[in-house]
Amino acid sequence: MAISSDLGDLRRTHYSSELSEGMDGQDVTVMGWLLTVRGHGSITFATICDRDGEVPIVAKKGGECPDEVREALSSLKAHSSVAVRGTLRASPKAPRGFEVVPAELRIFSRVQKIPPFEPVAKTVKNIDTRLEARPIDLRRSVLQHTFKMRSRILRAVRDYFEREGFIEINTPKIISSATEGGAALFSIFYYDKPAFLAQSPQLYKEQLTMSFEKVFEIAPIFRAEASRTPRHLSEAISIDLEEAFVDYNDVMDRIASLVRESADAARSYLDGAKEVAGGDVPLAVPEIPDTIPRHTYGSLVDRLQGAGAKTQWGDDLYPSDLKRLGLDGFYFIVDWPLGPKPFYVKESKGGSGDAGGEQRQRTSESFDLMCGELEISSGSTRIERREDLESRMRAKGMNVDSFEYHLGAFDYGAPPHAGCGIGLERLLMALTGTANIRDATFYPRDVDRLVP
Ligand code: ATP
Ligand code: MG
Repeated sequence: MAISSDLGDLRRTHYSSELSEGMDGQDVTVMGWLLTVRGHGSITFATICDRDGEVPIVAKKGGECPDEVREALSSLKAHSSVAVRGTLRASPKAPRGFEVVPAELRIFSRVQKIPPFEPVAKTVKNIDTRLEARPIDLRRSVLQHTFKMRSRILRAVRDYFEREGFIEINTPKIISSATEGGAALFSIFYYDKPAFLAQSPQLYKEQLTMSFEKVFEIAPIFRAEASRTPRHLSEAISIDLEEAFVDYNDVMDRIASLVRESADAARSYLDGAKEVAGGDVPLAVPEIPDTIPRHTYGSLVDRLQGAGAKTQWGDDLYPSDLKRLGLDGFYFIVDWPLGPKPFYVKESKGGSGDAGGEQRQRTSESFDLMCGELEISSGSTRIERREDLESRMRAKGMNVDSFEYHLGAFDYGAPPHAGCGIGLERLLMALTGTANIRDATFYPRDVDRLVP
């Protein structure tokens, strides 16, 4: 039968990326979804999309292809799930130099609904329209490339950690108390007790440096971010690392390597994708400098004040401030004021770092990695002694007793250690030029969105 609707024994022989004009005359079976169908009376052109790219199908009246196959094909709407078995034919006019002439068509699922946007649309303005049809939104070329790049970046990150002797860990996401205060937590019920979703693996990853020394985790963090911004999600993926017997300078060196290797992986993905798609890939990966510049917090405050800003030492630095200073590309801001930092962040040696001007202010061994105005990572040297942790907690008005499960670990002797958390979606935004974080995750969660 030339037309049927079951997969049966039929299997794909080639992905689109495996086809070429050199296979002229070969019998092939391709499977995927219909990107376009255009019938012109005696000839029907269709494009089937698979994981890797596009396959042009040409069904002409007059012997080459059974009439019922051509007619059935031309009746289909874009997105339908199909298979075509047929003959590959070299065709100098086709974009990739070949087309497939169908002998058999399987129609697995017909489209029941008109999609809210064209599958080939390069941009669709309203993100809510897209999110409501996310499964097919993710078929659009720009998101295909973004998420394939994400996968490559994750592989490069894991390769880096493996090579550098890190152990991959997973820490509890259901926790009994806040890790750092500040960011709002999601409350849940844990049987009959109140509990929270973890805003970071911070305390557990620190404890694990006592036994494994070098650990990393790639997992969700949950933050009740009540504001609507293009860079905050309620559920994000954090690449966390923590390492014993190093300080924040060593961690910055590691992040620089991670960013460089991620960018290399993204670029090598793009090169390959451009080859398959004939150059039409709407993403570009920025160059990462050999040395990522480091600016002290104090020096930036001085520059802002010099430019007439009202910023005081101790204030946060806002995107508008960084824009004003013309900072772009990747750079670190180091030695932040100690006061607002979480309790586990170590004070700078001598109790004072670069405080800006003549003031002697308490700074911390901390950094943020930025890309333009976007924060990609925060990290620091951590405190390794219990009494220092307790005094910082008291100074911040925290309930020391409720952290006994954590502080108790330090009674057994913790090594000096340092680490950071890198927002995967933020890194992907920086490496692909994606403006809205909702397009750097598959199914975004934000203050307005819990479905799909
Ligand atoms: P921001 O100032 O941008 O709100 P933060 O300083 O509160 O971020 P950290 O606690 O330092 O965030 O978390 C470490 C990293 O995790 C951040 O640098 C960022 O890349 C990522 N991250 C934190 N919160 C979010 C979020 N709500 N959505 C997406 N990524 C996040
Ligand atoms: Mg931060």
